[in-house]
Amino acid sequence: MSEKKEVVIIGGGIFGVNLIAKFCNAFSSTTANMHITLIEARDDFVYSPLNVRNCIEDVSDVFIKPYDRLFLKKPKLGRVICGLAVGVDQERKIVSLQNGAEVKYDILVLATGTSFEDPNNLPRSNHSDVLGYFAEKRELIEKSYNILLIGGGATGAELAAEIADRYRSKKKVTLIHSRELPLTEVYSETLRQKVLTYLLQSRVTVHLKARGTDNKNGTVTMVKAGRGKEKPTTEVLKADLVFHAMARRPATDGFPESWKDDRGHVRVKDTLQLVDDDSIFAIGDLNDVKEVKTAGKLHYSLPVVYNNILSLVNDKKPSKVYTPPAESITLTMGKYRATGQVALPLIGPVIMPSWLLTSLQGKHINAERAVGSVGY
Ligand SMILES: Cc1cc2nc3c(=O)[nH]c(=O)nc-3n(C[C@H](O)[C@H](O)[C@H](O)COP(=O)(O)OP(=O)(O)OC[C@H]3O[C@@H](n4cnc5c(N)ncnc54)[C@H](O)[C@@H]3O)c2cc1C
Repeated sequence: MSEKKEVVIIGGGIFGVNLIAKFCNAFSSTTANMHITLIEARDDFVYSPLNVRNCIEDVSDVFIKPYDRLFLKKPKLGRVICGLAVGVDQERKIVSLQNGAEVKYDILVLATGTSFEDPNNLPRSNHSDVLGYFAEKRELIEKSYNILLIGGGATGAELAAEIADRYRSKKKVTLIHSRELPLTEVYSETLRQKVLTYLLQSRVTVHLKARGTDNKNGTVTMVKAGRGKEKPTTEVLKADLVFHAMARRPATDGFPESWKDDRGHVRVKDTLQLVDDDSIFAIGDLNDVKEVKTAGKLHYSLPVVYNNILSLVNDKKPSKVYTPPAESITLTMGKYRATGQVALPLIGPVIMPSWLLTSLQGKHINAERAVGSVGY
């Protein structure tokens, strides 16, 4: 057997930890021709689909878990380094960390995900900072009456429904969205209508074909498209609290510009290797594959990257290719309702009933199952 290859994974989010779990299930330190190092900026794994709920009620202990059990059963197979990766030297094959440390790799996997706006802009920092971030959001929401969300994509719609569901008529929740219906055209009109109906039933005020600008003085200026040939109207809305739910950018700041497209996504081939460096893979939210970035894509991309890494480890050419699946989504519309579409071959998108989705998701949007990937 040739010398063990050092596989370094930057980012212990949903994609990073599931990749590691797959290696841990398949190999022991004696059968694996590799050693794995996870570099992660936070003390804990955070299952982000539960972020929104945690801004309303404290469920931190359900979905925020330390990495201490990740290699518990296979301690010689890998290790976790807590630190922020700030650079990659391709020639020396080294990842540098903010604290000055350097980590050598043979194969590198980038899995640093996305940076969101509040209330999903969690610090890449220690346990108490992350818990403090959510506590602050809960306090802000609790003390605000007029809550205004700019952006009616999946996270905006879910947050609006979650707040409205929890506080009922005690708060005025307003959602401003630029399109004719919530979400984007990627999803079926039936689903988008359904999301709108749920929002309205929860007494969320929804402004469609509108754009909001936060004046940072307790007001938002909304410009709304007119009907037909009517001129756009401008209105100033009161807002004790404003969330921007539309801006998301890949968390790729520390990586060379030559790797990225104009929006900051890391450019990959269909093998999920970098366009000009076969020893580096990019998986999850940060790569430039044309698809809606969701955790659900894991089931399709993980087998590809797993097999291709094994090929490289065994000095073979990676041959598995990734083809994005048709778009499916589940939206949690408050604690007791959900909607979503599943793309079925030949049939197309099928809307799933709320009772089925809520029972499949369990009490905490599948978090109990998700933290299993870090051994909890
Ligand atoms: C509110 C919300 C709800 C969602 N709901 C759903 C849903 O219902 N279903 C679904 O399928 N998807 C959902 N998603 C999307 C899903 O969470 C993402 O697609 C998924 O988390 C992407 O996984 P990832 O591993 O690429 O990135 P992430 O899970 O974001 O993980 C990236 C990790 O990298 C670390 N990191 C970043 N930069 C560095 C660095 N420089 N050095 C070291 N570590 C670093 C971060 O700390 C983080 O742990 C939701 C997202 C949000 C925000």
